[in-house]
Amino acid sequence: MGLKKTFCINHPDRPAVGICVITKNPICEECSTRYNGVNYSREGLAIMRARRKAGAGRRFWRDHAWFAAMVILSPLWLLMLYAGVFAIMRWLMQRGSA
Ligand SMILES: [Zn+2]
Repeated sequence: MGLKKTFCINHPDRPAVGICVITKNPICEECSTRYNGVNYSREGLAIMRARRKAGAGRRFWRDHAWFAAMVILSPLWLLMLYAGVFAIMRWLMQRGSA
């Protein structure tokens, strides 16, 4: 009858006050961390932080991909500019001597 009493996954003698939203394990007051209104176990919190870190890393590369590409390609741009100037100068010299 009624709700089955659940106990903490880490402390079998303590009643669970919530369920971790990540691991779905019942957790007691001591094991629970409330964050943005939901319960996290220590394991769940670690998983969430790892996920958030991975997400931030992806965002960083998406935002800075153009900059990274420019830096990587900059020697190529300089080489093309140098080759272009050199070609124009050679063309002008050839025209002058003709
Ligand atoms: Zn506990």
